[in-house]
Amino acid sequence: MNIIQIPAFTDNYFWLMHENNNKHSVVVDPGACNPILKALDKNNLILSDILITHHHADHIGGINELKKIFPSVNIYGPADKRIPATIIVKDDDIVKLNSLNEEFQVIDVRGHTNSHIAYYFKNKIFCGDTLFSCGCGRLFEGTYNDMHKALTKIKNLPKETMIYCAHEYTLDNIGFAKLLEPNNIHLLEREKEVKKLLKKGLYSVPSKLENELKINPFLRFDNNNIINAVEHHYNKKITNEVDVFKYTREWKDREYD
Ligand code: ZN
Ligand code: FE
Repeated sequence: MNIIQIPAFTDNYFWLMHENNNKHSVVVDPGACNPILKALDKNNLILSDILITHHHADHIGGINELKKIFPSVNIYGPADKRIPATIIVKDDDIVKLNSLNEEFQVIDVRGHTNSHIAYYFKNKIFCGDTLFSCGCGRLFEGTYNDMHKALTKIKNLPKETMIYCAHEYTLDNIGFAKLLEPNNIHLLEREKEVKKLLKKGLYSVPSKLENELKINPFLRFDNNNIINAVEHHYNKKITNEVDVFKYTREWKDREYD
């Protein structure tokens, strides 16, 4: 399977996938039409399937125009009036696409929004705005409990899983993570690597779960460095993972960006 990374707007990524010898393709979260048409054209593909993770405009904004050009396109998404899905999928569904020789598993990852889902294929997760490299999505609709649950599901996937998130926020996220773990050598190495990649006009995602577990404060709610940093910052004892996550998220929201 081939995965084409399509940068769009200022920091979004759309993910276009296709098999060799098959003109049919699938795109995840088409927030705009034109960048996708260009990529289809360049690779001589037609669009057969769309996977939607959540309802935000930068993830669904291209659907109407794409539907005009590919009227029979299947649109997979969660049950949510704000998403024009033609095929509704829910947690634990296993779905076979016409365009790929693979089945994907749907994972409920509500938190950023109330109906956010992720798509898991063999060691790849398309997680929208749930998890970013070294960060996670803001909680617009869900509870801290929801998001902690969602991140725990991702955390428990195989370590080789590649995280195909929807934004290039990595460097900014590392800046915050360094407030909590200024001496985390994996974090400092990642910062160097990301700076190099971006300087060359390359991308810092997808990233490997194994490395995220070492650097991402929003997956490290059970790690002593993170617990100590949050307890120190808020000057209180924190006794459970959800609260560690909650205070980490609040810290970033209130004082970082
Ligand atoms: Zn979003
Ligand atoms: Fe987004």
